[in-house]
Amino acid sequence: MKRPTILVLGAGYGGLSTVVNLQKNIGSDFADITLINQNSYHYESTWLHEASAGTLRPDQVRYDIKDVINENKVKFVQATVEGIDVDGKTVTTNNGVFSYDYLVIGLGFEGETFGITGLDKYAFSIANVKAARQIREHIEYQFATWSMEEEKDDSRLTIVVGGAGFTGIEFLGELGNRVPELCKEFDVPQEKVRVVCVEAAPMVLPGFDPELVDYAVGHLQSKGIEFSIGTPVVEATPEGVKIKKGEEEFEFIKAGTVVWAAGVRGNRLIEATSIENMRARVKVEPDMRAPGYPDVFIVGDCALLINEEINRPYPPTAQIAMQQGETIAKNLIALVNGTDTQTFVPDLKGSVCSLGEDDAIGVVFGKKVTGAKASFMKKMVDNRALFMLGGPSLVVKKGKFNLL
Ligand code: FAD
Ligand code: NAD
Repeated sequence: MKRPTILVLGAGYGGLSTVVNLQKNIGSDFADITLINQNSYHYESTWLHEASAGTLRPDQVRYDIKDVINENKVKFVQATVEGIDVDGKTVTTNNGVFSYDYLVIGLGFEGETFGITGLDKYAFSIANVKAARQIREHIEYQFATWSMEEEKDDSRLTIVVGGAGFTGIEFLGELGNRVPELCKEFDVPQEKVRVVCVEAAPMVLPGFDPELVDYAVGHLQSKGIEFSIGTPVVEATPEGVKIKKGEEEFEFIKAGTVVWAAGVRGNRLIEATSIENMRARVKVEPDMRAPGYPDVFIVGDCALLINEEINRPYPPTAQIAMQQGETIAKNLIALVNGTDTQTFVPDLKGSVCSLGEDDAIGVVFGKKVTGAKASFMKKMVDNRALFMLGGPSLVVKKGKFNLL
């Protein structure tokens, strides 16, 4: 009998977890498995705020895909996916067309701009490792240019962060530590620098524990970060952002750097398929398959999974993406063997939001944590993700050991 062909698109947490869990549980003649990813490396999306602020080097947040796959069982192809035809069962890339019996789509997230004018053009998004490198270099360029200018434009030293969700707050935490370093390096008086977080909702980290939110805001304010809350960004221009402060009241914040961290959507390639989706996220069946397409699984941020207890989607996280990959691997094995697939049940351990290298807030196993303890836990979570995908050798190579 012909071996089935399994294609996995994307080597993020979801795609890589699917492949790693498959290779652990099959023999080398089980199926022809191909992993397609646009880069030869996986990057830790959960560390991108650090690479963006410049507190970690870009090469520290990525590792070679070939370091974690077993090439006797999984073939890796570096290619950019250009189109997915779920009716014809083919995937078109810049490196050829691939057909499949089973497909796993794990092409990840993109920044959501909600159609707000100018954001696509004039704001940066913490979207991938290349974008992170560009943000870091842009901020450094602004500082370097300011220090050379005869007529100094202080707005070069203003950084606006749109969105006070987890991504925005973690990035601000890194900036809190990075700005003094930049000032020293580029001979900039620190009082000239402004870091402003603009949030549309009436609170920072909407929906999170208010006591922990107060802790985070206090910590960030003590590092000089300003907050403008309940004031949505309504436009971005080359000079900065316009925010709405009241019914007819607007303010313009002149800024040399605008980083947009106000939410994510699924990969746009999903919208070009005939799979039903919302902002490129697919409301999956209980076993993680796409509705109407029993040979297509969706993993990670491209999947929309409803938490029945509160009738709202689970937030898209790496934690969930990796667990989904584990279930999808089991379900692919079940389908090939002609047995029943299983329902994906998330096992949420909590969430920790870093506030720079040395501080954090979180709720872990239902308990609130702050400060050094929370920061230690965050690093443990980061190291655990490395361990789950690449074992102890990857932890030794890339792990975070500056634990206190
Ligand atoms: P991704 O990690 O986005 O991976 C998608 C992969 O697909 C990438 O390798 C990409 O290169 C590849 N790809 C994309 N398009 C193509 C294409 N056309 N062709 C080929 N390859 C392609 N979650 C947590 O649980 N804990 C955290 O602490 C946390 N921190 C975060 C911090 C930041 C700054 C951000 C931005 C997110 C954070 N998240 C966190 C959320 C988490 O990163 C995402 O939920 C997770 O990355 C989703 O995994 P994924 O596999 O779906 O996609
Ligand atoms: P988010 O959707 O969680 O937060 C976006 C924020 O932007 C919200 O507070 C929203 O009110 C605000 N916003 C929206 N429109 C705006 C506007 N016009 N002007 C100003 N503010 C606006 O998005 P995120 O922070 O990018 O997180 C994405 C996902 O990644 C979430 O699921 C999150 O849980 C996860 N994540 C987790 C961690 C962690 O666990 N440590 C870290 C980062 C991200």
